[in-house]
Amino acid sequence: MTQRMHRYDPTMVDLVFDYMRERLQYDPVPLDHPGDGARLGEALSGLLNAQGNDPAEVLKLYDHELSRAVISADSPRYLSFIPCAPTKAALLFDMVVSCASLQGISWLEAAGAIAAENQVLRLISDRAGLPDTAGGCFVSGGSAGNLSALVVARDTARRRLGLAPGARMRIAVSDQTHSSVTNTLNIIGVEKLVVPTEGHRLTGAALRAALAAGDDDIPVIGVVGTAGTTNAGIVDDLAGIAEVAREFDLWFHVDGAYGGAGLFAPSVRARYDGIEHADSFVVDPHKWLFAPFDCAALIYRKPWLAKGVHTQDASYLDVLHTGDTEEWNPTDYAYHLTRRARGLPLWFSLAVHGTDAYTEAIETGIGLARDTAALIRADYPDLEVVLDPVLSAVVFRRKGWAAEDYYAWSQRLLAEQTGFVTPTGWEGEVVARFAFLHPGTTMDMVKEILDTMV
Ligand SMILES: *Cc1c(COP(=O)(O)O)cnc(C)c1O
Repeated sequence: MTQRMHRYDPTMVDLVFDYMRERLQYDPVPLDHPGDGARLGEALSGLLNAQGNDPAEVLKLYDHELSRAVISADSPRYLSFIPCAPTKAALLFDMVVSCASLQGISWLEAAGAIAAENQVLRLISDRAGLPDTAGGCFVSGGSAGNLSALVVARDTARRRLGLAPGARMRIAVSDQTHSSVTNTLNIIGVEKLVVPTEGHRLTGAALRAALAAGDDDIPVIGVVGTAGTTNAGIVDDLAGIAEVAREFDLWFHVDGAYGGAGLFAPSVRARYDGIEHADSFVVDPHKWLFAPFDCAALIYRKPWLAKGVHTQDASYLDVLHTGDTEEWNPTDYAYHLTRRARGLPLWFSLAVHGTDAYTEAIETGIGLARDTAALIRADYPDLEVVLDPVLSAVVFRRKGWAAEDYYAWSQRLLAEQTGFVTPTGWEGEVVARFAFLHPGTTMDMVKEILDTMV
């Protein structure tokens, strides 16, 4: 007979499902508050004992204490960092993925799930204009995607140039590149060639100049373009970078963790021209494609190069590689082995709602940014737009404010549950920033927040 822990318990199921039903109905989702360590410690004290606890009591503790000390990234008033606004369909299917215990490593174990995930990767590849042979897998985030892709860049170049494993190499990045790319280069032992930007945007001309001025002893083997900087949503000159990359035999990686979703938005699609030449490309559906955490799509132009680098060699894994041409093992395309089939919630939501609904939701964020910049210019003489919004981020300043004014204002906004808006840095100055993404954010909410700055 099944042990107690693995037996179906209708009371606990009702309890948890009722909670989920309630959470799914919050409209709008409350922001909630930062945590108080002492209070949380007290609430959790003694909980993990030998006998266990009444599930109703544990769930109540989660609901009343823990969940209130988590700022809800899916609140329409969460405008910091990059928010999150999963569709209900995606959230619901995330629960299905959990209940199905899918092991997303291999075709042998999860062909059905992988076929669906690959359908989504195909859709994204097509929007980017990558060839039919492009493919990859879903990983946990942009950081994992950048790391997995740049390892392939490194090893592919090493082989092509006949370099020894310890040989020095460089990858060109802009001075605006995401911290996860810097991290990746530290991890994989590749040095940076930092290319200065013009207006925070990496151009082909600047890359060419940096290569010409560079130290010839250390080969530059790749370049990272950003399709939507996290701070300001700036899209690099991907076409120009691609041209230089072709000329100098560089691996061209595009980090579109935040902005890649703009491929689905006709109003900004032209900014991504050149992405079709990428050797690898990352976009985080848990950012602007409305999937739950944690979900990033990693796509290679020539997936077989990634397979040559990432396939793990262990006798018990030989069975995964039978030579069947149909097989597609996600484990072969990133540094992971065990993998949640985290592309499925996005697949379900896309299948249910259709791509037009995604286009509309993404355009809503772009429209909010544009309207906010116009509103600041028209009605708020104390405020100043720092640069015209490109995607869905707005960077702006309050004239006369010092750093501490921004920090105090930000804390006050959160305490009053008006908004979660953290300051950012811009050319050495502390400024304010909105990152729009949630289609439920309204201009009334924006006004309410801006009114606290005058
Ligand atoms: C968010 C972001 C990342 C990191 O992605 P994670 O999913 O947080 O790991 C990388 N690059 C850019 C441009 C980003 O916006």
